[in-house]
Amino acid sequence: MLIFNTQNELVSHLTSVSNAATSIGFVPTMGALHQGHLSLIKEALLHNTIVVVSIFVNPTQFNNADDLAKYPRTLEKDIEKIKTVSDAIIVYAPSVDDIYKGKTISQHFDFDGLENQMEGKFRQGHFDGVGTIVKRLFEIVKPTHAYFGEKDFQQLQIIKKMVSKFEMPVNVVGCPIYRETNGLAMSSRNERLSEKERNQAAIIFKTITQAKKLFATKSAQEVTEFVAKTFEKQPDFELEYFQIADEATLLPCLRKNKTKTYRAFIAVFVNKVRLIDTISLN
Ligand code: AMP
Repeated sequence: MLIFNTQNELVSHLTSVSNAATSIGFVPTMGALHQGHLSLIKEALLHNTIVVVSIFVNPTQFNNADDLAKYPRTLEKDIEKIKTVSDAIIVYAPSVDDIYKGKTISQHFDFDGLENQMEGKFRQGHFDGVGTIVKRLFEIVKPTHAYFGEKDFQQLQIIKKMVSKFEMPVNVVGCPIYRETNGLAMSSRNERLSEKERNQAAIIFKTITQAKKLFATKSAQEVTEFVAKTFEKQPDFELEYFQIADEATLLPCLRKNKTKTYRAFIAVFVNKVRLIDTISLN
């Protein structure tokens, strides 16, 4: 398996093996890989001649220094996991300097308001950081297709918006959420939970699944109240937000409209570890 730590080496390799017929599938990650990431890599392998996986904990998308410091970094294990999928994958694991060249700052983006909801509201500057790193990685890798998980649905919509605004020649593909058997969405942050907390965290998916059922007959406000009350009864959990939003604009649903598709979004703290999840409501 080829592993590159600098963009120069990666780009010169990709140039030497590509021609007009080559399609490059790209899976950007922050490492601490799990089955969810591997499902994106498998999807990329199905549809491309070359697959590049980046492993880079991007400092500019963290609004909390402690969260950045504690983010799991497990490069050797990650490489072993990728090898179980295929030996032919190209890994790009750059240093902060290789990406930011001494200027670790974000570009500012206008994503037509998508960046102001939910994650954008609670993590100031997060989507400027995401936009900055994904744009830079796209410029380096020049992928034909790029694969993103629906677990970060707001991020997926924002990347689609960026690609359309900057007219980037890449097809952004959304992939379904991989879950533990208890329903907990797989996440690199789950590694920071104790076994007991991981078991307890099943309540997140259970609650949004109940919310989905309720939304068939109740208003968004009633469903939101149900979710708030559920978490009030859970001393080990702190609900940061629950929002039912229009999938296209991510604006909160104030009154149901049959022509729109809705999705529920949730962020919860379990002992200082922040977990997010989402479910389609249509
Ligand atoms: P991350 O390493 O957390 O930045 O995630 C890298 C990519 O994997 C993003 O596109 C995520 O949405 C996706 N991803 C993370 N967790 C999951 C999951 N449980 N199922 C599917 N995709 C996921």
